[in-house]
Amino acid sequence: MGRIEFGAAAASAGQVTGPRLSIVVPCYNEAGALPELHRRVSAAAAGAAGGDYELVLVNDGSRDATWARIVELAARDPHVVGVSLSRNHGHQLALSAGLTLCRGARILIIDADLQDPPELLPDMMALMDQGADVVYGQRISRDGETWFKRATAGLFYRLLARLVEIPIPLDSGDFRLISRRALDVLNAMPEQHRFIRGMVSWIGMRQVPLLYHRQERFTGETKYPFAKMMRLALDAITGFSTRPLKIASYMGMMFGLLGMMGMAYTLYGWLADLALPGWTSVMSMVLILGSAQLFVLGVFGEYLGRLYVESKRRPLFVIDHVVGRNDALAVSDPAREPRPMPATRSGA
Ligand code: UDP
Ligand code: MG
Repeated sequence: MGRIEFGAAAASAGQVTGPRLSIVVPCYNEAGALPELHRRVSAAAAGAAGGDYELVLVNDGSRDATWARIVELAARDPHVVGVSLSRNHGHQLALSAGLTLCRGARILIIDADLQDPPELLPDMMALMDQGADVVYGQRISRDGETWFKRATAGLFYRLLARLVEIPIPLDSGDFRLISRRALDVLNAMPEQHRFIRGMVSWIGMRQVPLLYHRQERFTGETKYPFAKMMRLALDAITGFSTRPLKIASYMGMMFGLLGMMGMAYTLYGWLADLALPGWTSVMSMVLILGSAQLFVLGVFGEYLGRLYVESKRRPLFVIDHVVGRNDALAVSDPAREPRPMPATRSGA
């Protein structure tokens, strides 16, 4: 009788006395990587936080054995909290679900595929001991990724940096350690189209980089095909900048000017009796103007569509099951009352 919990309602409360460290991992078809992830992350967490940590594994509607693996891990290891979403919600929302449910004083975000080494945790903790609120991993190199992925990612981060009004660090993913007070701000941000690394930058406070070499995926293949990458890129740009809208109006002005020059030429042609031959120039004008208009409309559409989705104010994600933390999560946790309970059906 799993009750369903709506994400926004589960906003985490800052005063909860949770463990020293939470590690939040979104998992989509990562069954193969989970045992190794659990081993390496547990070792790093045990070293950095003693026994006082929780490992929050979020199953994002996987179609393989990911959830079964998570349930097994939670049965064996009391540190593990498993959360299963009702369907695939996408990386950023799966991560948001984990970030809402975790209770640690510090929160490590890491991918399931071990591309970002959990062994950096002690260094991140040390930087936070010195007063940082966010320690973000910044990639010096990326192993085992195609040149296409590296090139498009590099281009994207640089384009983003030129467009947005806040400093978003180059070459950083979501791999980072966040303080509870920064996370509370993040969890209070309601937007549906979430570009979490940008949202974290937006918070401000003291953010410091930790340089590292990105490894090859431990197993499986990327869950970010080109289409998903494009969507994330558009969410990032539209979420943090309205400059494309301004560029659209500049483009309008530029083409207006071009149009006037074209008109002057047409007039001259008519006066000088050179009319008629000119099919090529007419056609190219029509095509150029047509595509410029479509482009501008498309840019408007990107913003309008997002505005529409935001206006519906739907919950960000729907949780189906929670296991671990004695299978009771908030039920046995008076600090989190009163609020809707997450599902407590144990097992799969
Ligand atoms: N992921 C997810 N839902 C999705 C796609 C990805 O939870 O719809 C998770 C995935 O399991 C991984 C992380 O997000 O832990 C990053 O994905 P991936 O490693 O495939 O991205 P890449 O490193 O290739 O950019
Ligand atoms: Mg990866």
